[in-house]
Amino acid sequence: MDLELPPQDDSRRLEVRAWLAAHPNPSGKDLAGAGYVVPHWPRPWGLDAEPMQQLIIDDELKKAGVQRPINPIGTGHCGPILVAHGTDQQKNRYIPPMLSGEEIWCQLFSEPEAGSDLANASTRAVGEGDVYIVNGQKTWTSLAHDAAFGILLARTNADVPKHAGISYFIVDMKSPGVEIQPIVDASGWHNFNNVFFTDVRVPASNLIGPENGGWELAKDTLANERVTLSRGGAQWGWGPTAQDLIDLVRDRGGAPDLVMRQKLAQLYIEGEILRVHGLRMVGAAITGGSAPAASVRKALADPHGRDIFRIAKDLAGPAGMLADSGPIGADAGWWAQGFVFSPALTIGGGTSEILRNVIGERILGLPRELEPDANKPWSETRRR
Ligand SMILES: Cc1cc2nc3c(=O)[nH]c(=O)nc-3n(C[C@H](O)[C@H](O)[C@H](O)COP(=O)(O)OP(=O)(O)OC[C@H]3O[C@@H](n4cnc5c(N)ncnc54)[C@H](O)[C@@H]3O)c2cc1C
Repeated sequence: MDLELPPQDDSRRLEVRAWLAAHPNPSGKDLAGAGYVVPHWPRPWGLDAEPMQQLIIDDELKKAGVQRPINPIGTGHCGPILVAHGTDQQKNRYIPPMLSGEEIWCQLFSEPEAGSDLANASTRAVGEGDVYIVNGQKTWTSLAHDAAFGILLARTNADVPKHAGISYFIVDMKSPGVEIQPIVDASGWHNFNNVFFTDVRVPASNLIGPENGGWELAKDTLANERVTLSRGGAQWGWGPTAQDLIDLVRDRGGAPDLVMRQKLAQLYIEGEILRVHGLRMVGAAITGGSAPAASVRKALADPHGRDIFRIAKDLAGPAGMLADSGPIGADAGWWAQGFVFSPALTIGGGTSEILRNVIGERILGLPRELEPDANKPWSETRRR
């Protein structure tokens, strides 16, 4: 099963090529202006592109060696929320530099006591005239140190059930009172941070959607995140695939033993299931049909990605005990860092257990998880 793209002389291809000929080294701003960063978004930000047109644009940009600006949380998680729920003033101010990559975004959701149970957030935003005063702490905030703006979930009402008292804000990360402390992960990478808010003044015009209506937007953001995190390579769409590891082993003379051969065959099977699942999702989008959701893909892809790195480490043999070793004597490259990072794959963007809850409740229609305090005011149920 493979997806056949339209022929090389398809008029939609020729249009992209003509644009590329006129813009041989396009900047992020050029790509954003042409609608090529997010072709599936509505105009003027995208091109209202149907899925096949999107695939054609992806294919032509790839062939021309053109890379889109990298702003994963901006275009992947926050942007769609702004498009759907932002005011015109918010869209015009924030979307163009988000798409061009000039302003990086981060997502200020998780807290020390609110990760899987995000609705337990205790960061407070208290309205005072035309500003909200924000106090609290967020954690695991990827890219906060590079970000110009963040989307923030904060509690605006403690006297209603937890889901009903949360609002969704845009925060300028350079605001006085925002303190960013790096968290360096086990692989030595500084990607996420603790972010502290002390009397941070957030303009009321930065509220997205209604006050206390943030939970619905948060759920949409998490759904967008699952789509973003469920693409191709082993590390949330980036890095090597199972096929890359198998090719490497074959090129270097084959698997060292039968057990390893079994493991590689298993990786190949999983990789094929994911590839076909991806094609079904694209196919369903093209024909307007339905396909199992991105949560299913992420639930399969996360442990698969982790196992690619684990097996690559096993293939390094005793040399694998050294940090800078790759499988079967190959260069360490992405393999060494990926191995240490890979346990995070089944945690970030919703843990494997939470994904199974989502699949059980929203796809299979099974009874909801029991939450005895769900209807009590948050202030009475708050975990300490
Ligand atoms: C690489 C990485 C990047 C991240 N980037 C960001 C970011 O940019 N912004 C942001 O806001 N957050 C970010 N996070 C945080 C991430 O969203 C949380 O770590 C995740 O939601 C889990 O929350 P927690 O760590 O508090 O674990 P907990 O919620 O405390 O969970 C602990 C364990 O209990 C299990 N568990 C919890 N509740 C249930 C339940 N109801 N049923 C069954 N099992 C349950 C979990 O599956 C887990 O195994 C990132 C995390 C990682 C690893």
